[in-house]
Amino acid sequence: MKKIGVLDIQGSVEEHFAILDSISKDRFEPVLVKTIEDINGLSGLVLPGGESTAIDSLLQKYNLDNEIVSQAKNGMFVWGTCAGAIILSELGLIDIGIERNAYGGQLHSFETELEFNGKKIPGVFIRAPKINRVGEGVEILSKHDGGAVAVRKNNILVTTFHPELTDNITVHEYFVEMCL
Ligand code: GLN
Repeated sequence: MKKIGVLDIQGSVEEHFAILDSISKDRFEPVLVKTIEDINGLSGLVLPGGESTAIDSLLQKYNLDNEIVSQAKNGMFVWGTCAGAIILSELGLIDIGIERNAYGGQLHSFETELEFNGKKIPGVFIRAPKINRVGEGVEILSKHDGGAVAVRKNNILVTTFHPELTDNITVHEYFVEMCL
C-alpha cells in the first residue's frame, strides 16, 4: 500500500497525522517520518508548521534535507504548511519568494474564510509567512487579500495556513489525491 508520511520533528505533527489517518480508508498508510530510512518509498510527505529555524537545523543535523530534496526530485509529493512552506522554498523545491512572520507576531494570528481550488475552507494563519513572489508555472490555488496563500507546482504543494488545525479535510484530500 502507498505510504504518506508526516515529518515528525517539531510542530503540528499529530494534527496532520490524525486527519490523514481519518481519511486514509484503505487507500494509503499514514506514517511518521523521523529518519532517512522512513522517507524511502513514500508517495508523499507532509512538512508540518512549527518553527522553521528549529525544523531546518534538525533536518540538516540528520541529513534529512538532502534526502527530501532528492526524493522530491524523483517524484515524491511534498506538502509544506506554514513553517513547512518556508522549508520547501529554502530547499529550492518550489520557486516562490517567502517572507517569514509577514503578518506580524502571535497577536496577528487570525482565522478567515478562503476559497481553495473552488471550495470554501477555513484558513488559520499563525505567525504565517507571506508568499511575495510566484515563479513561472506556479499555480495559485488560494488567495487572501490579493496574495497567494496556497500554491502548487508539479509535485510540490505549499499552504501558508494550517488546514490541520481545523476539521475541514479539503486540502488533505487534495494532497492525498496528488499522491495516489
Ligand atoms: N513563524 C514560524 C516560522 O517562521 C511559522 C509559524 C507556523 O508554522 N505556524 O517558522
